[in-house]
Amino acid sequence: MKNKKCKYIFVTGGVLSGVGKGITAASIGAILKAKGYKVTMQKCDPYLNVDAGLLNPVEHGECYVTHDGVETDLDLGHYERFLDFETSKYSITLSGSIYKELIERERAGGFHGKTVQLVPHFTNLVCEKIEKASAESDIHIVEIGGTIGDYEGLPFVEAIRLFANKVGRRNCLYVSVVYVPFIHTSNELKTKPAQNALKDLRGFGIIPDVVCVRTEEPAPRAICEKIAAFSGISSDAVVNLPDIQSVYDVPFNVLKSGVLAILDDFVGETKEPDMKRWKEFSRRRARQYTKTVKVGLVAKYVGNDDTYMCVTEALKAAGAWNGVNLEICWINAEELGDKSVSEDKNEAMLRLKDCDGIVVPGGFGARGVEGKVKAAEYALDHNVPYLGLCLGLQVACIAAARKGGVKEANSEEFGASEADNNNVIYIMEGQKGKESTGGTMRLGDYRAVLNPKSKVAKTYKKAAEKGEYVYGTEVSEDGGVEVIERHRHRYEVNKKFLPEIEKGGLRIVGTSPDGKLVEFVEAPDCKYFVATQAHPEFKSRPLNPHPLFMEFVKSLK
Ligand code: GLN
Repeated sequence: MKNKKCKYIFVTGGVLSGVGKGITAASIGAILKAKGYKVTMQKCDPYLNVDAGLLNPVEHGECYVTHDGVETDLDLGHYERFLDFETSKYSITLSGSIYKELIERERAGGFHGKTVQLVPHFTNLVCEKIEKASAESDIHIVEIGGTIGDYEGLPFVEAIRLFANKVGRRNCLYVSVVYVPFIHTSNELKTKPAQNALKDLRGFGIIPDVVCVRTEEPAPRAICEKIAAFSGISSDAVVNLPDIQSVYDVPFNVLKSGVLAILDDFVGETKEPDMKRWKEFSRRRARQYTKTVKVGLVAKYVGNDDTYMCVTEALKAAGAWNGVNLEICWINAEELGDKSVSEDKNEAMLRLKDCDGIVVPGGFGARGVEGKVKAAEYALDHNVPYLGLCLGLQVACIAAARKGGVKEANSEEFGASEADNNNVIYIMEGQKGKESTGGTMRLGDYRAVLNPKSKVAKTYKKAAEKGEYVYGTEVSEDGGVEVIERHRHRYEVNKKFLPEIEKGGLRIVGTSPDGKLVEFVEAPDCKYFVATQAHPEFKSRPLNPHPLFMEFVKSLK
């Protein structure tokens, strides 16, 4: 082991998935970080996809992108939000990627005639990935996706058992998150599924050091004691984590639960976690303010928080830090763009008109895109604050170009073409033919040079000077501003149409350093109209909200 000082926490789940294993893991991480440790996190997921890029966002939730350009699932977003750090390609380990690497090594003759097997080859490779991911950490937390006993998850469970042999059992803490349902007909909590899950875990050679018992309501202590007695675990190590209104209060729940003493014991020292900023955020978030702002989120998949998780979390955080109640009003993009209904009868349009500001998030495919263009056009025409994220920039440019004279302006993604001279958004160099393949988009961190006079530059600069936002903003002595944001796109603005885009009311205020790609636009005549080709929502944190979101929400006050 290269990093000899690192300690490892492995979090598994039993009974049900979706009971907050990831949030519990991230909350433990947040507490340890608040104690001053360098904490990193990693998700091991048993599904066979190589990454999350091609997964359906309705089924799987939003696709999150790391700074080094890996498309992952939304759990890594939780990790970044709770720990305010940047995950990387090492923070996600999917069965698909492990198999792919093993098979490629086997095909290249890398196993020298040996039989390649789940044990030891798969399990050893998982251990290697855990080691790599923890190279710089004091404490590394690994969450295993799914629940104990799932067929496809078993090699990961074996790998984390094996890991303790490599680094020493006392350097590993196993946390099991189990669910205890309340059966209304008999009016009681049932511990049997949790007992069985813990029995399964024991069967795989892991006796947990901590059991987090998730319940709907606070459970009597006797429930935890019963689970402890039937699972051969000390009763101090079985704690109750009942449901709580906000995920951001889970760290406080964990602190109250008794886990702190176990963590102190594990790391070998007692340090009070500094939860000041967490407390401040919690207080601000829970407060009822006199002012409520309504944000219209124009989306293809409406009402599904998971699909736009980072966007809604960034908005909510900006609401709390701006001291307003923020209401998200979902606007169905398809309905908004329905040309067969007159504008005064279009329910989606009426809802949009009732909003104080508009956000058009990222998206792929033609469905709903006319509604998004309409939303951008409405914002431009009526001076309604607008924040465009990736596709949100593209539709803003389409709307402006249409106003500027290119009546049929559109994106090549939605049928526009060079021949028709209407491809205001066109496919990026090198992207043709790759439209339905995985891992080929322009992904991850890219730098943009901003026009120092723009609202965008001033917004970033102000935050950087206050030390509020760090990830990559650089302000030079001559006033120049450069920023680094994460990307996930295949299409870009066709600069041939700049005159029409400008005539329609937009200015380009940020480009790639070589000047070729448009990264930011804004409408100087509007109160706040900013759009970016990037996804700033990936870098927004509850305790460190993104300046573009902060400024957008401020403009709604
Ligand atoms: N579909 C657009 C593109 O690929 C926008 C992508 C996005 O919004 N993430 O360029």
